[in-house]
Amino acid sequence: MNQTRPESLASFWMPFTNNRDFKASPRLLVSAEGMYYKDVEGRAILDGTAGLWCVPCGHAQPKIVAAVREMVGQLDFAPTFQMGHPSAFDLADKLMAYTNGRFGHVFYTNSGSEAVDTALKIALAYHRARGEGTRTRLIGRERAYHGVGFGGMSVGGIGGNRKHYGPLLPGVDHLPHTHNLEKNAFTRGEPEYGAHLADELERIVALHDASTIAAVIVEPVAGSTGVLIPPKGYLKRLRELCTKHGILLIFDEVITGFGRLTTPFAADYFDIEPDMMTTAKGLTNGTVPMGAVFSKQFIHDTFMQAPAGIELFHGYTYSGHPLACAAALATLEVFEEQKILDHAKSMQPYWEDAIHSLKGLPHVIDLRSIGLVAGIELEPVAGKPGARAYDAFKKMFADGVLTRVTGDIIALSPPLTLEKQHIDELFGKLEKVLRGLD
Ligand code: PMP
Repeated sequence: MNQTRPESLASFWMPFTNNRDFKASPRLLVSAEGMYYKDVEGRAILDGTAGLWCVPCGHAQPKIVAAVREMVGQLDFAPTFQMGHPSAFDLADKLMAYTNGRFGHVFYTNSGSEAVDTALKIALAYHRARGEGTRTRLIGRERAYHGVGFGGMSVGGIGGNRKHYGPLLPGVDHLPHTHNLEKNAFTRGEPEYGAHLADELERIVALHDASTIAAVIVEPVAGSTGVLIPPKGYLKRLRELCTKHGILLIFDEVITGFGRLTTPFAADYFDIEPDMMTTAKGLTNGTVPMGAVFSKQFIHDTFMQAPAGIELFHGYTYSGHPLACAAALATLEVFEEQKILDHAKSMQPYWEDAIHSLKGLPHVIDLRSIGLVAGIELEPVAGKPGARAYDAFKKMFADGVLTRVTGDIIALSPPLTLEKQHIDELFGKLEKVLRGLD
């Protein structure tokens, strides 16, 4: 394997990257095992973010690596249009069992963005199939991230991601976000204040009428915009209002799915029944790209009652790719055999104490945590939003820890296999870096 520096950094147009800054001082990862990456200098880098939130079981899990190797030699590709291969069906059954019967069917995609756009399309087609084709409006939330497809971007609520691309999808409304530093700063778990913000849905219904609204999509815990944890009772209220008005509720569990909150899904943690759920990332432990939409039985049933023929005019060449299915099947086995969720639960109190021990450090204006995820919000430098956290990110990498920043928030979401010594290393270095920030 080539572990040397690339010959040039010139041609790769890097995603969501400050390309000019990166190319002046690149960070290059060449291998990974367990809780650590190794960079091109041979330095160990503690993975404080499970890659991009996508490696819950730790890197290079032997069972997953072997399953992918075996499958690539056996079945490199097989279509799932009008035919299939066994592991796609086996995986679907196992995934549905993993939701404890909450969902009946799974539709495969290759990413979280595709899962979101797929779920939105299923919502629209579902209403049309049952004779309520007027339900076309989609409702997202401010500060939501639902990927980069036109659907996901439209229901997403990040001005910086949206403003470059014109009007996006028509007929989209946004609920307010629930982040409130004045009321909820330094909360462990769900904050007290803000459940009433779900009632904003009533305002949108009053304005447009329920008969025009297809679906509401929310991240149960918003990850990419800085670990925004729902206020107590907020999601339950949203569920009640969606049910009252015949609106489908979609949970975007691309980040929260597969153990991030120490339960299989955030829906389990909050004990809410969404109608659809989007997943990706941890589904294959990050090994092979894959996303999926889980749908309630009644949604699928509606399509199956349509006149004979293709029921859903949607799909991707790589939906249910054999390598992704092999990786996902092995990932589910690793979750079970290694009791990953039990371990995550056992680490959670130590993790939470470590985060909240940072209170009082310079520039720290909020610390929030739930499951094995945490957000550390820093006071922005006047006139330079995001600069302070970006500085922290670079210093942490130089010190051998991978973190993730969004605006002036440092997000932490380690592999669930971490041990106390990793928490000590991460927070020891973080404290040092935070103390040294300008
Ligand atoms: N939804 C959520 C909640 C996400 O966090 C992400 C990615 N971070 C996506 C969708 C998009 O996933 P992908 O990058 O795999 O397209």
